[in-house]
Order: sequence, then C-alpha cells, then structure tokens
Amino acid sequence: MKGFFARSTLIQKAPPPRLPACGACGLYRSCRSPKMKPFGRGERRVLVVGEAPGETEDVEGIQFVGKVGSYLRDMLDRVAGVELHQDCWTTNALICRPPGNKITSEMMIDHCRPNLVDTVEQLEPDVILLLGFAAVKSLIGGVWNDNPGPISRWAGWRIPSQKPNAWICPTYHPSYILKRHDEVLEATFLQHLHEAFELRGRPWDKVPNYEQQVEVLFDVVEAARILREMARRGGRVAFDYEANCLKPEYPGAQILCASACWEGKKTIAYPWQGEAIEATKELLHADNCYFIASMLKFENRWTNWAFGRGVRHWLHDTVIGAHVLDNRRHISGLKFQAYIYLGMPAYDEVIREFMQSQEGSKLNLLKEEVELRQLLLYCGTDTLMEFLVADKQIMQLGKS
Ligand code: URA
Repeated sequence: MKGFFARSTLIQKAPPPRLPACGACGLYRSCRSPKMKPFGRGERRVLVVGEAPGETEDVEGIQFVGKVGSYLRDMLDRVAGVELHQDCWTTNALICRPPGNKITSEMMIDHCRPNLVDTVEQLEPDVILLLGFAAVKSLIGGVWNDNPGPISRWAGWRIPSQKPNAWICPTYHPSYILKRHDEVLEATFLQHLHEAFELRGRPWDKVPNYEQQVEVLFDVVEAARILREMARRGGRVAFDYEANCLKPEYPGAQILCASACWEGKKTIAYPWQGEAIEATKELLHADNCYFIASMLKFENRWTNWAFGRGVRHWLHDTVIGAHVLDNRRHISGLKFQAYIYLGMPAYDEVIREFMQSQEGSKLNLLKEEVELRQLLLYCGTDTLMEFLVADKQIMQLGKS
C-alpha cells in the first residue's frame, strides 16, 4: 500500500457541476416555454419530478397539464386526496420540451441536472417523488452513482437520502402505466404514491457522518486489544477483509487489512499485521460472537485460508437478506442496500477502479495504488454499513 503518492490520493471526488450546462442540449431553441420554472404551492412539501414537458405543457408553461398529467392528478387524488399543484411542486428532469417528447441522449439529462439540484436546494422538499428513469438518472445519478440502472431497480423504495436530506421515492412514469393497461402495475403505482405521501418531515434531524464513526488504527497492538474486548463482550459483529484478489487460492493472494463493527457502536479498521491477526482469529472463533457480512462465503473462505477454520457463528449475510426481502435484480449489493436503507452516498468512488483485477492477472491494485488510510477507511465504512443494513433487514425479515 502506497503512501502519499498513491494514485488514489490524486483522485478527488468530483462534486456535481454547480453551473448548469443549461442550453448545451439546444432544446431551448425549439420549444415555446424554454427553461420552464418549477410550479406549484408545495403545501405538503413534496417535489414531483417528471421526465420533460410535453406538447400541452410547452404551450401552457406548466408541468403535468396534458393527458399524462391529468392521469397523474387523478391517481394522486385517489391515493390520498392530493391536489398536484396545491400540495406539491412540479418540475422535470429536462426543463425544455424535447422534439417529439423524445430524450435522444442521456447527456441531455446530465446537462439539465444542475437545474434540478438548484430546485431541490431552493425548495427544500421533505419528499421527492421521481417519476421514471429520466428523473432517477437526474437526481440519483448526481448524488449516488452516475449510472443508476433501470427504473425497475428503483421503483418503490423510500430512500432516506442524506444528500439532500429528503425522502427520495422513485416510481414508474405515469405514461408507462397508461400505456401498459395492466391492473397490477397500476395498483403497484398507486401503492408507491400512497407510501410516498404517507411520509412526514425529513428523514434526518441531523444527517449522520458514518465515515467519522470508523476508527482507523495503524497501531495493531491497540487493534488487537479492541478485538479481544469485542470477543470478551460477545454479541453481533460485522466483519470484512480487503484483499489483493477475490479468492485466496490465487497465486500471490494476500489479505491487506480487516475491520470489525461491534453492535454498530464501535468500528475499527486495521492493517493485516502482527498481533491483530491472532486477535482476529480469537474473535472469529469466539463462542459468544455472531457474525454479519456481505457475501459471507468469501469472508469464510479467506478466514479458512488464514486460520484453517471458518467463522464459528454466522448470523446474517446482507446479500442473501436483500434477496429474500426483494428478489429484483441488481439490488443486493452492499452499496445499493446502504443507499436505500441509510441514504448513504457512494463511498467507494476513490477505491473502485483499483479493485478490478488487472488484465492477465488475478490481482487488483489496492496494494500498489491505494493509500493505506483510504483503504482502512473504506474497509471500516463497509463493515459499519454491513452492520446497519443487516440490522434493518433483520427487523424487516422479522416483520414479513
Ligand atoms: N408532463 C410533464 O411535465 N412531465 C412529464 O414527465 C410528463 C408530462
């Protein structure tokens, strides 16, 4: 692991651009109501974000006044007696009408994103209802991951977003529901609206800083002392290794560091060295500790490789938990789960590119290119997320 000149230290997290590239898409030239302003009284502090103004909206200069808008207003009225332009504010991922109502490039959404960011900052909504892929791409693409994937992955979650501090509620676009003539789909859409309008207030009185809760320890004797204290107390422990490859059987395989989170109250991350290794073994084999991981088969495999025996008691795997609760594709990864349950913004941006194995080799570049402090912080944050996500899943599994 490198020090100051590691490539990872040179990568800065790029904040979303502040200045709208407004006009870069050229749409303002071909529409009657260019750069449409948000509309509505927002009495229930809900911001409804659609795709783009349609023909009628472009004529009238107001969102959701055409056929799709009329359907949406009808659905909202049925759900909770919501009156769109009185109870909500409205805007769109694109604030100019694209010809033929077609978004021909996702770049248009990227250019227009700062307008939505500004709107959210100015209105400070408690709830943001995202209708369809373009709205998801615009908002979630700016705060979590620029490639959010299909709307089917997002519809129905109520995300306690940290940035911004608001509930983000994605669902399908009403034009899609109108086109499909599918009663089940329509009922699902109504349920999503109902659940979004049930929410009150913002998700966080004080937005948590989870990375600050991670203790990065270079002193492996101190790490060993804390690990032994965790073993003595017993209870639930989330646990994670970072290694230089996926599987311990690969030539040159090495564990680089590890982290443990005890009961969500104490999280440490430490280098895989000296006394800390033996103390990790004692913890993982303790009779009174119950372990949580994401993809526990890997943690167990590495544990077996390091100590000749797997973890003594497994309690929960967040990947399996996610799948049991909701069997949609592309939702069971820890980063996604941490986002939907805790509103945790992406925390692997700096590390991500170095986790890939290199061409012609099974090894990644974590050891060569990532500063040890960054790697430990990442590893510890992962473990804290594992614990907190597991806690939410276990509660939900108990309910279902
Ligand atoms: N009207 C809007 O303003 N936006 C949509 O996404 C659909 C209709």
